[in-house]
Amino acid sequence: LTQPQTSQGLHIVHIAAEIAPVAKVGGLGDVVLGLSKALQRKGHLVEIVLPKYDCLQEDQIIELKALDVAVESFFDGQLFKNKIWVGIVEGLPVYFIEPHHPSKFFWRGEFYGEHDDFKRFSFFSRAALELLYQAGKKPDIIHCHDWQTAFVAPLYWDIYAAKGFNSARICFTCHNFEYQGTAHFSELSSCGLDIQRLNRPDRMQDNSAPDRINPLKGAIVFSNIVTTVSPTYAQEVCTPEGGRGLHGTLRLHSKKFVGVLNGIDTDSWNPSTDIILPVQYSADDLQGKAENKRALRTQLELSAADAFQPLVCCITRLVPQKGVHLIRHAIYQTVELGGQFVLLGSSPVAHIQRDFEGIASHFKNHPHVRLLLKYDDALSHMIYAASDMFIIPSLFEPCGLTQMIAMRYGSVPIVRRTGGLNDSVFDVDDDTIPVQYRNGFTFLSPNEQDLNNVMERAFKYYKKSPENWQKLVQRIMRLDFSWESSAQQYEELYEKTVTRARAAANF
Ligand code: ADP
Repeated sequence: LTQPQTSQGLHIVHIAAEIAPVAKVGGLGDVVLGLSKALQRKGHLVEIVLPKYDCLQEDQIIELKALDVAVESFFDGQLFKNKIWVGIVEGLPVYFIEPHHPSKFFWRGEFYGEHDDFKRFSFFSRAALELLYQAGKKPDIIHCHDWQTAFVAPLYWDIYAAKGFNSARICFTCHNFEYQGTAHFSELSSCGLDIQRLNRPDRMQDNSAPDRINPLKGAIVFSNIVTTVSPTYAQEVCTPEGGRGLHGTLRLHSKKFVGVLNGIDTDSWNPSTDIILPVQYSADDLQGKAENKRALRTQLELSAADAFQPLVCCITRLVPQKGVHLIRHAIYQTVELGGQFVLLGSSPVAHIQRDFEGIASHFKNHPHVRLLLKYDDALSHMIYAASDMFIIPSLFEPCGLTQMIAMRYGSVPIVRRTGGLNDSVFDVDDDTIPVQYRNGFTFLSPNEQDLNNVMERAFKYYKKSPENWQKLVQRIMRLDFSWESSAQQYEELYEKTVTRARAAANF
């Protein structure tokens, strides 16, 4: 196996289910990429372990090759061979694990949503640790993400530390507490974890269903550092309304739990170098933004009669969390207010997808509305660049990246004040916020009336003074949403836990 070069910094291994752009479903993929790149820039040795999905975007991996070793890992009482691939993704070394298991865990044509996800990802978590162990790696930090790799924390402390593979401290980040991956407790033993030891209220037993095991809870209990993706969301999940049953566990472990706001990868999201755009532009030269708006309208066959007509956009997974009824309402309200609306989104939920297909066909050939019900990364860049306003009416939002990307491309966010949206968007009319931080429009109650009000305010602001609007656009484009300061917070958390571990070892 390839050995890491020596490095002055920490050796950090991320074990995850996604990394952009090769395996991205949503924000998790962006975060694993952006945080890893920022940590690497700070001088740390960063490696990543992912499943070798059949649907990887392999053209985005440089020098992908299979290693001529097979790593055997335990599952369901026997050992299975795993083929190990290694390649470079945006300068980062990534290991891809291809299990030789009859269930063909990662040959499903998609990343998630399979009936046996618990098995697929508990297998992967075990195989990832086995890879690190057999390769003789001695990471300082193993950082895992979401329930799919939450098994790593109990596996590490219960099985691998006992074998002497104990150099690392475990950091776990939960990107969304809605997804906990619970299963009947009997499923836990497949990956080698001990049901007797772990199916207990203070360990992995689900807080509301005693016959179920909760991997997310296991990671909270067994990790040295637990983070989530914004300070406001960190507070929300400690309440009965926000914690999805885990608020008690989080409160119990509050000393190691912290919210760190995500950043965005400012290399891939940069309007002045973005080659996907018809015309590049910057805060100092906004002419290109107008040209992108014209180009998108032409491409989507929207009316281009009035260059000043505001273009409202939304790019999202269409799931209940995102406030789909409010997104729907925003489309009609935009038309009512004389704007244009473009939605790029797709839904894993059949009835929501059907609903929006209905709306899309209602607006077929409409001069001011276009719904694009698919996932399309290139198109998302063009929409960010073309749009004047960007709407995110989420019911809850752990962090949210689209408001930050929108601002970087000069689109003013209109958001519900929740989670990470509350930590990154500050209303232009809020006198309690210093003027230089005010960067969008916010509303609190998730109902149509409040949404109408905030959209009316935004349209008024836009129409009343184009000069002020332009100043606002320039200001938001210059805001720093890079990973720099968030990566520094992670670095500090890592260093603190590593120092404590070393002190304890020398005692
Ligand atoms: P979540 O992780 O809940 O999906 P985030 O706001 O954290 O939401 O991240 C969403 C990411 O996925 C952004 O990079 C956004 O541009 C992208 N995205 C969402 N839907 C689509 C789509 N239909 N086509 C292209 N990109 C999308």
